[in-house]
Amino acid sequence: MPDQGTGTLNLSQDEKIEGMASEMTAAVLYGREDLRLERVETPRAGAGELVLRVGAALTCGTDLKVYRRGYHAMMLTPPIPFGHEMAGVVTEVGEDVTGFREGDRVVALNSAPCDECFFCRRGQQNLCEDLIFNNGAYAEYIRIPARIVEKNTLLIPDGVPLEHAALTEPLACVVRGLEETGAAPGDTMVVIGAGPIGLMFMHVAELAGMEVIAVVKRDDQVETAKLFGAAQVVQTTVEDVVAATRALTPGCRGADAVIEAVATPATWEWAVDMVRKGGIVNFFGGPPSGTTVALDTNRLHYGDITLKASFHHTPSTCRTAFELIVSGRFRAAEAITGRARLDEVPEIFRQMLRRTGGSREIKTAVFPEGAPR
Ligand SMILES: [Zn+2]
Ligand SMILES: [Zn+2]
Repeated sequence: MPDQGTGTLNLSQDEKIEGMASEMTAAVLYGREDLRLERVETPRAGAGELVLRVGAALTCGTDLKVYRRGYHAMMLTPPIPFGHEMAGVVTEVGEDVTGFREGDRVVALNSAPCDECFFCRRGQQNLCEDLIFNNGAYAEYIRIPARIVEKNTLLIPDGVPLEHAALTEPLACVVRGLEETGAAPGDTMVVIGAGPIGLMFMHVAELAGMEVIAVVKRDDQVETAKLFGAAQVVQTTVEDVVAATRALTPGCRGADAVIEAVATPATWEWAVDMVRKGGIVNFFGGPPSGTTVALDTNRLHYGDITLKASFHHTPSTCRTAFELIVSGRFRAAEAITGRARLDEVPEIFRQMLRRTGGSREIKTAVFPEGAPR
C-alpha cells in the first residue's frame, strides 16, 4: 500500500491518484457460488473512460442467477468482477472526455450499444451485436468504458441518493418491457410475480395509468404488491389462479396485457390463459435454456393473441427510467430493503441463495464507503 501521501501540495493528477489508492477491495466471482473479496489493482481511466468511486451498488436477481450458475453467457468467463447496478462519484476523467468532471455524481449503465449494427439501425439496441457490458460494481472503484461514458452515463441531480439512481438499470429493462406491450392508460394489466422486477412492473404500470392486478405467492407479498401499485391481488394459493384473475378483469374477458415475471413454465402458461382476446403477453422472466411450455394453439389463433418477450434496455429507456427516479415519481426508497458493507457481499449472496420465501427483501444496497447518514 502506498504511504500517507495524500494532502501534500502540488501533486500531479497521476501522483494524486496513485498515491491515494493503487489497490482496492473488490468482489470477484470465481465460479459456482464462489465469490471472493480480493485486493486488486485500482482501475485507471484510459482515453474516453471514467473511473468512479462506487457510492452504492445494488443486489440483483441476475447477479444471483450468475452466482448460482457460475457464469453468464454475455459476460466473460470467471474470474469476473461482479455486480452491475451502481452509482458513484467520478474520481478520474480520461483523455477526451468532455461531458464529465471529477466530483460529478453519476449512474453508469451496465452496457452500451454500438448504434451501427443491423439491430441498432432498426432501433433494437438492446439486441446490439456488439453490446459491451461492464461489471464490477461491488468494488471501491470501477472503470467505465468509453462507449458507456458516451452513451449511457447520466449526471445525478443533487438531492437524489446514489442508491436510488442505481436502480436505473433494472428499471430501464422494466420500462422497455412495459413500452413493448403498447398498453395505454386505463388498460388492465396483470403482473405475475412479486420479486424485484415484478414489483417494479406494477409500480411503473400504475404510474402509466394502468389498472394493475398482481398475482403473488406469499401472504407478505400481498401488501408489498399493493405498496407498489397493484389495485387488486390474487394469491397463487387459490384453487384456480387463472379463473380468479380473469374474474377481476372487466367483463371477465381477461387482461389487456399480462406480464410474466417469475420464469417458470407454469406461469408462462397462466399468462396466456389470463390475457383477453386481442391482448398481449410479455414473457419477461427468462427460464433456463431448453425449457419448453405447452400452449393452446386454437386459443392463440382464434383469440388473436400476441406473445412477446423482452430483453435488456436501450439508451432511451434508461433515460425514461432515470427520469422516473430523479423526479421522485418512482418510490425508489421502497425498493431498497437492505443496507450492507462491501465486505458483507459474499455472505449476502450465500443468504440470497438459501432464501426460500417469507423474506420481504427486495434489494440490498452495498455501500463500499459505509452507509450514508
Ligand atoms: Zn440487474
Ligand atoms: Zn449495435
